[in-house]
Amino acid sequence: MLRIEHLSKSFGAHEVLRDIDFTVYRGDVISVIGSSGSGKSTLLRCVNLLETPSSGEIRFHSSNILSPGINVPGYRAKVGMVFQSFNLFDNMSVLKNCEIGQRKVLSRGAEEAREKAMHYLRKVGMAPYVNALPRQLSGGQKQRVAIARALAMEPEVLLFDEPTSALDPEMVGEVLEVMRNLVREGMTMIVVTHEMAFARDVSNHVVFMADGVICEESDPIRLFSAPKNKRTQEFLSRFL
Ligand code: ATP
Ligand code: MG
Repeated sequence: MLRIEHLSKSFGAHEVLRDIDFTVYRGDVISVIGSSGSGKSTLLRCVNLLETPSSGEIRFHSSNILSPGINVPGYRAKVGMVFQSFNLFDNMSVLKNCEIGQRKVLSRGAEEAREKAMHYLRKVGMAPYVNALPRQLSGGQKQRVAIARALAMEPEVLLFDEPTSALDPEMVGEVLEVMRNLVREGMTMIVVTHEMAFARDVSNHVVFMADGVICEESDPIRLFSAPKNKRTQEFLSRFL
């Protein structure tokens, strides 16, 4: 459903992504791992059009989303993103956070937006907090609201950029549990993560990046048990 071809991205003279190719099929759970600065966030940001690639193509259901005239908010509704730092609207209640995109981008009516918001908030265990403001929530709760907000748009793919990295250790589990449930339901996801257990146990494909290129990719069993590339070996040895 999503195909990235020869994607490159430079900031000035600094080439951060170089000739990235990969394909996402419906139901895929792809983990992206790699050291800090390897370009993982930039890759997701390009896929979500938060950055404009310097060259290459991104095809979603075979239409090139880099062509002029693409409806960016409409595309982002289908390819949603969850950030490390939640990015909730701080001045809006939990419920409003989950309604606003549906109202503005999908033009859903108030009642439908509320129903969908409640449905997905229940799913992530946040229904009791509908009237709370983000600042009244823990990090794990905020991230679960951010996931509900993304789900309320009923996307075809969800991108996660280190969704548990900003959380206190005791809250990591509740967010990973929500993500595991999404996987069980067949959600298509690309997850940038440092949670190697999650990458190994939950994804069907793992991509290892270094210095803006994909060094190695395969199913998780092979990649974690017998990495071929020297840089993958070095990276993984730090987690043992
Ligand atoms: P981390 O694990 O720390 O999140 P990452 O793999 O997500 O790292 P990126 O954030 O994609 O890495 O950054 C890759 C490189 O691009 C880094 O060298 C970074 O400094 C650079 N970079 C990212 N965004 C910008 C920007 N807006 N302007 C200039 N350079 C940038
Ligand atoms: Mg990053």
